[in-house]
Amino acid sequence: MSNCAIVGINWGDEGKGRMVDLICSDYDVVVRYQGGGNAGHTVINEYGKFALHLLPSGIFHQNVVSVIGNGVALDPESLITEIEYVQEKGVALSPENLKVSCRASLLMPWHKELDCLEEQRLKDKAYGSTKQGIAPFYSDKFQKKTMLAGELLDEEKFFERVTPIMEWKNLTLEKVYGAEPFTYEKLKDWYDTYCKKLIPYLTDTDVFFDTAKESGKSILFEAQLGALRDIDFGIVPYTTSSSTIAAYAPIGAGAPAIKLDRVLGVVKAYSTCVGEGPFVCEWFGEKAERLREEGFEFGAKTGRPRRVGPLDIVATRYGVEKQGATELAVTKMDILSYMDEIPVCSKYIVNGKETDRFPFPSDLDKAEPVTEYLKGWKCDISGVREYDKLPKEARDYIEYIEKQVGCFVKYVSVGPQRDAIIIR
Ligand code: GDP
Repeated sequence: MSNCAIVGINWGDEGKGRMVDLICSDYDVVVRYQGGGNAGHTVINEYGKFALHLLPSGIFHQNVVSVIGNGVALDPESLITEIEYVQEKGVALSPENLKVSCRASLLMPWHKELDCLEEQRLKDKAYGSTKQGIAPFYSDKFQKKTMLAGELLDEEKFFERVTPIMEWKNLTLEKVYGAEPFTYEKLKDWYDTYCKKLIPYLTDTDVFFDTAKESGKSILFEAQLGALRDIDFGIVPYTTSSSTIAAYAPIGAGAPAIKLDRVLGVVKAYSTCVGEGPFVCEWFGEKAERLREEGFEFGAKTGRPRRVGPLDIVATRYGVEKQGATELAVTKMDILSYMDEIPVCSKYIVNGKETDRFPFPSDLDKAEPVTEYLKGWKCDISGVREYDKLPKEARDYIEYIEKQVGCFVKYVSVGPQRDAIIIR
């Protein structure tokens, strides 16, 4: 049984969906293990272009079983909408190839509403949430005030247990935010419209993974966001509310005793960041606009323009360490082809001193970038499929990254299509 986790090294949007789509045909099972509908993994294949939010990116491969694990914020409305969209596009998706853990906690309709209300209350101090209810969901999960997907199977018992939770939530909606309370009718409508359709997909993942282990199946764990957004190791408070770290993958998937054999860290050839918080290497003005446009850097979920800058080596080295990456994929190399020189943020200056260690979150606003330049290659590399055929300057850039962050670059992605890849 061989296992691999595909994880983001930076702020997310590194191109993980594309890498999962590329290598998942080598695996029997692909599992999403954390996060929720706030993700936007882009996959381009024979069925079209998809921004997957909750579905594992393995869903397009007929011989792969996709699993949504217990660590995911399971929003029935978002998942059913996505399943139906993917089915309409001709993808064979059924309970045969999609399994949803009975142990996944449900993101309830009030979580999204509370997320919006809190961002409105914060006004210009808002965290830049995607308003998918993720932070209220995880808070309630840890307060043990949400429901497990498996509880949907017994409708009567479900409503017996969820009604007091709704009443408790209404206290916050009405008394803190002055909003409308939730009603039983609304909740019943949500149950009938979305939850009933989810029931056929519910699976006991204990049994599923035991059987998978016995029959020597290989598992690919698909992460959302990146190391710098991790709830424990990220740039607090500008993190997500779940663990984006590879070590959490077996737990969030539902097979905590599994050991990872490979951790493939995905790094974009330059830096991007969605939302608020320190972003030391950030570019502004014309050069930022050019890079944003060349790289189509607009959020898959929100359409928001992403903040952009050169590759941040300090942050990337930190991400590689925290993820325990055993190999890297560098994506979007083709985007840098327009540059005469390739900029990299090689160090930070904090309190007048150069450092190559990633600072404590509250010290990050004091950090200034040190920028170095490597020679650009100035030609189209999107058709290259062999490492030796890349221009020397492009190889030098890859080898510079390897040396700086201490990890082998196994994949170089030169386009969004499945085959636009160089494997070393
Ligand atoms: P994820 O959340 O980590 O899966 O990343 P996103 O899907 O948000 O962002 C990756 C975007 O870059 C998607 O639109 C991909 O199709 C695209 N992409 C991935 N790799 C490459 C590449 O090597 N070159 C180009 N031009 N686009 C890429």
